Amino acid sequence: MKTLVCTAPGHFAFREDALPEAGIGMARIRLKRVGICGTDLHAFEGTQPFFSYPRILGHELSGELTDTGGAGGFEAGESVTIIPYFSCGTCIACRAGKPNCCVSIQVFGVHVDGGMREEIIVPAGSLLHGQGLNADELALVEPLAIGAHGVRRAGVQPGEYVLVTGAGPIGLGTMELARIAGARVIALDINADRLRFCKEHLGVHAVVNGTDKDAVEQVKAITNGDFPTVVIDATGNLGAINNGIQYLAHGGRYVLIGLQKEAFSFSHPEFHKRESTLMSSRNAVKEDFEQVIRSMKQGSIRPQTYITHTVGFDEVPGQFASWLNPATGVIKAMVHF
Ligand SMILES: [Zn+2]
Ligand SMILES: [Zn+2]
Repeated sequence: MKTLVCTAPGHFAFREDALPEAGIGMARIRLKRVGICGTDLHAFEGTQPFFSYPRILGHELSGELTDTGGAGGFEAGESVTIIPYFSCGTCIACRAGKPNCCVSIQVFGVHVDGGMREEIIVPAGSLLHGQGLNADELALVEPLAIGAHGVRRAGVQPGEYVLVTGAGPIGLGTMELARIAGARVIALDINADRLRFCKEHLGVHAVVNGTDKDAVEQVKAITNGDFPTVVIDATGNLGAINNGIQYLAHGGRYVLIGLQKEAFSFSHPEFHKRESTLMSSRNAVKEDFEQVIRSMKQGSIRPQTYITHTVGFDEVPGQFASWLNPATGVIKAMVHF
């Protein structure tokens, strides 16, 4: 079967691999879609901290189950997606019901080889039923679950102002889930096209361009002088993370979903005077995946509108580098098998 390997930052190569054998407790899936996200792009750039090479990328996927691996309630031939975070089940985080931050977590397509190949073998426990969603929708469940988790971490309450910085796929999902939680969402980005997308497709309360000199004043005015009680970073950009604190209300929560390599820093007095709560949000748990699937079935989120680029598996090496360039207008690229 054909496999696409990221051999080193900036390099892809196709390889012919033997069809994988599904061992006990392991399910086999024939791939239909793989979504490309910031993690994959950063891995290709060499700026993602959890990567080593060579690596088969791809963790946002959907396909047809060809061997259930004994998973109860599943049938060969059905459409599935997966929870691509494989946890140990015994560490302190797993024992606390937080397998998303397992001490020895193995993320499919990050720590272990992922979905850029015709067939994959995954633990049967990672399977999720397709529930009538189409292949594109199923491949979009994972990135939206990331947002759902961040919103749940923040404990967003109805009527709160929630500022989401970064209007890439993760930020868009975060905005949608915050809106579903009843928040008045403010989208902040430096790309006018993406802000327009938020306004037209996401029903956000307001948008602010971070390059505006008076961006802080704009956020203050939108929130009637209070500032947002929740700020969620979905940029993974050091400057944006360092600046985020200035948008936060006194008594507010600052949640980092985005990830980058460096130490971040902000003024201790600015952080302290707000009695800020700082938290990271890593991956997602099954509850988040289930909430996203439910929301898609109800039509309260329509993430297919994020798909701006569709390519065949063979075209990935030729196209991938272009998706790093925001000028191509890419929000979500989707690979078809
Ligand atoms: Zn992703
Ligand atoms: Zn664990």
